[in-house]
Amino acid sequence: VDEIKQRHESTASDVLTEDTYGHYIGGEWVDADNGETFSTVDPTTGSELAQAQAGTAADIDRAVAAAREAFEREFADTHPDERQRLLTDIAEIVEENHQRLATIEVLDNGKPIEEAMGDIALVADFFRYFAGAARTATGEQVPTGDLFDRDKHISTLHEPYGVVGQITPWNFPLLMATWKLAPALAAGNCTVLKPSEETPLSVLEFCKLADSTVPDGVINVVTGYGEEAGEPLTTHDDVDKLAFTGSTAVGKDIAHNAADSVTPTTLELGGKSPVIIHEDADLEQAVETCMMAIFFNTGECCAAGSRIFVHENIKDDFLEAFAGAAETLQMGDPLLEETDLGPKVSQEQAERTMEYIQLARDDDADVVVGGDTPDDDALAEGAFVEPTVIDNIDHDNDAVQEEIFGPVEEIFTWSEYDEMIEQANDVDYGLASGVITSNINKAYDTAEDLEAGVVWVNHYNDVSPGMPFGGYKQSGNGRENAMETIREYTQTKSISVNLGPR
Ligand code: NAD
Repeated sequence: VDEIKQRHESTASDVLTEDTYGHYIGGEWVDADNGETFSTVDPTTGSELAQAQAGTAADIDRAVAAAREAFEREFADTHPDERQRLLTDIAEIVEENHQRLATIEVLDNGKPIEEAMGDIALVADFFRYFAGAARTATGEQVPTGDLFDRDKHISTLHEPYGVVGQITPWNFPLLMATWKLAPALAAGNCTVLKPSEETPLSVLEFCKLADSTVPDGVINVVTGYGEEAGEPLTTHDDVDKLAFTGSTAVGKDIAHNAADSVTPTTLELGGKSPVIIHEDADLEQAVETCMMAIFFNTGECCAAGSRIFVHENIKDDFLEAFAGAAETLQMGDPLLEETDLGPKVSQEQAERTMEYIQLARDDDADVVVGGDTPDDDALAEGAFVEPTVIDNIDHDNDAVQEEIFGPVEEIFTWSEYDEMIEQANDVDYGLASGVITSNINKAYDTAEDLEAGVVWVNHYNDVSPGMPFGGYKQSGNGRENAMETIREYTQTKSISVNLGPR
């Protein structure tokens, strides 16, 4: 424990610049109106990393006013090429600080350093992608129909909303913030972002780095808890558009609040995604894909492939190989490159995962691998949960129907294709899915049969910029990451001009 603690303390003092972070409002670092702060904790050691401001409605008011002022002062009039340059400059800043930002993610979230390096590479790439996308926000010219005079010229403008409110979760702290900030800015909006109270640090350090590049008030960050700081953002009269990534339960509350003021809202919510393994699947590829599906980011992925449906003829071979691979995963200090699995983001989340495993046990399911907290003194202070594989569990069990958001895989065996598809689709969620097969026709057929916004065939969890990402059913609405995301951050104005008699 001491060795890990020492490593984390000295790393924190290298990469963090403050003991107490402010809100970032109008380009200034300010204290919460009520003077309160909260502690953000390193889940590997249980030690405090820093204090952040515990925002409330008064702080949200200030931030929304700063965003409005920036929009009216200058940002509404920016041209796409200026915004392209801005986003490209931000991408460069991120690239210059790649290792430091990744290390902050490791400390605040507990994810392994290799995965955090991947997150930050994507952060830069998404800023570059939306830098380019800023130039595509063009309108259309519309031909008039036969019933109308031909001497009208109709065109459309896609205008930014103005001030957007954005709320993000803790699983990919800076990357989820980027999925929000980059398209909002590319489209010409100013933003108030409320990051998760579990992991505010990378976003705050990002703002420090970008401060001299981003005009004051274009990006504002208010930290704090969901109900105190998040909710006022979702009910604020002067917020023109909301975007939320988080749990389905909170997403529903936000949708209700937004409905009161008819504020357009995109929601990226939870998942309980199936991975279908056909009989003809390459076993090695199936194991590799499923390992990525559930153990990447300690299972803290909205898209995690947490229900595997394997064909009965290959079930035994697959389970033996998959369980064997899961057992080789190295749990430990996420700052070390050899670590595959870090702690969960908090003790509370670790306990939640353990409660779901207990639900499976209560149902007489077979816990084939893991199912416990590690028996290793060095990890005693951390929020660790073993990689876990569960077989023979009832599909109606809450541990199957609900999102666990941890390193827990559930295995189902199938023989009848239609029955299997029905069960695979029999959850409230529809975010992502996987298909493993060596037959391309089967791949497409199954992809069409799955109720999910994303289908990965023979790989999992890769989200390339440009690939629309979002959910069917209760996994949300709207799509992030793609050209169409620019549309989510603009409203369309039709202009019809009478050109008069020729
Ligand atoms: P969460 O819903 O608890 O919190 C998300 C954010 O909402 C946090 O910033 C939180 O402070 C805030 N919040 C909480 N209550 C609020 C309220 N009443 N009003 C306004 N804001 C409030 O989710 P989490 O535990 O941080 O993240 C995990 C969840 O996020 C999982 O369900 C996961 O599937 C989902 N997620 C989805 C995607 C996606 O793209 N679909 C991506 C990542 C995570």
